Amino acid sequence: MPKFNASLHSKLPKVGTTIFTIMTKMAQAYNAINLSQGFPNFPCSSELIALVNKYMQQGQNQYAPMQGVLALREAITDKTKKLYGCHYSPETEVTITAGATQAIYTAITAVVNEGDEVIVFSPAYDCYEPAIELNGGKTIHIELEFPDYNINWGIVKKMINHKTRMIIINTPHNPSGSILKKQDLQELEKITSGTDIIVLSDEVYEHMVFDGNTHESIAKYPELAARSFIVSSFGKTYHTTGWKIGYCIAPEALMAEFRKVHQYLVFAVNTPIQYALAEYLKKEEEYLHLNNFYQQKRDYFRNAVKKSRFKLLNCEGTYFQLLDYSNITLEKDTDFAVRLIKEFGIASVPVSVFYNEHTDNKVLRFCFAKDEETLKRAAEIICNI
Ligand code: PMP
Ligand code: GLN
Repeated sequence: MPKFNASLHSKLPKVGTTIFTIMTKMAQAYNAINLSQGFPNFPCSSELIALVNKYMQQGQNQYAPMQGVLALREAITDKTKKLYGCHYSPETEVTITAGATQAIYTAITAVVNEGDEVIVFSPAYDCYEPAIELNGGKTIHIELEFPDYNINWGIVKKMINHKTRMIIINTPHNPSGSILKKQDLQELEKITSGTDIIVLSDEVYEHMVFDGNTHESIAKYPELAARSFIVSSFGKTYHTTGWKIGYCIAPEALMAEFRKVHQYLVFAVNTPIQYALAEYLKKEEEYLHLNNFYQQKRDYFRNAVKKSRFKLLNCEGTYFQLLDYSNITLEKDTDFAVRLIKEFGIASVPVSVFYNEHTDNKVLRFCFAKDEETLKRAAEIICNI
């Protein structure tokens, strides 16, 4: 291929390849156990696969409606009403997306204008800021308080001004594993009341909340729900991250803007999987048991590494466990993560990459969505470091 010689002004000059891609590639190159990128290494339900196959065989292989298959939108509104008490219209307030990533990009693009400020809490999942920047918005970073990763609402209040267009929250939180509590949502409601601020709530780990706590969805708070996009992902709930299917729910006026963007970004999401999910979502025990399923994995992993020289941070939700390595070395977390792959054969994610300022608290993120054998081998390695 001849070289591209014309000038090119990158729209994302600071952005490189995502940490997940880098770490997974390096894990493969060094044949390391990969607890870096978040994905299960066990199979999804064979019943769900059979349903996808059934709908393919039945001929559901052409474009779905732009908003998504109605039966799936109805199943989502039923679930939201039952779990969180809020009624969304399947016709006008739900859209099926190509994963949560597309839902997040679409929501931001739909409402963030040039010069708007968007508050993001760091460490933050990596797809928020590029979407804000591409739309001419400005990301305002507020750090969660280490080591519990709580939000300091006093600081949030101070950072809000007439340019604040959006606040992005994520609960349960990737990468920290913390969850927002009732008081947090009440603070958010108070702070945004009487403003034009829109909330984007990333709730992809909604069914992975541990120790008897409940997921505090925005949908439990009617005043907040009235100004919010809520995003979730079937990839997390059904061990199908490779299917890239999720959804967004929002009040009609917000959803109307969302769909204006969605229809030109993807138009519609793949059809047979939507039909399959619509049917499978009726089996509520499948998602209601996920908390226990992952809590067991969390406990197994925590127990297996507790004699190591790493310090375990709290994990209230998600499938990520943070380990503090400050007792072992003070090298940079990015360097240490690479060394762990090359010298010890285990891959993690250095948490500093989720901060604008690369704040390095000497913490690595390990994904415990793995079978017991993998977790056992990983823990043995961790105990030998
Ligand atoms: N938000 C968070 C917090 C995530 O961890 C992820 C993915 N792992 C996403 C969004 C994106 O989800 P999806 O794979 O459905 O695009
Ligand atoms: N959400 C997953 C994680 O946090 C990775 C998703 C991706 O690879 N983009 O590890």
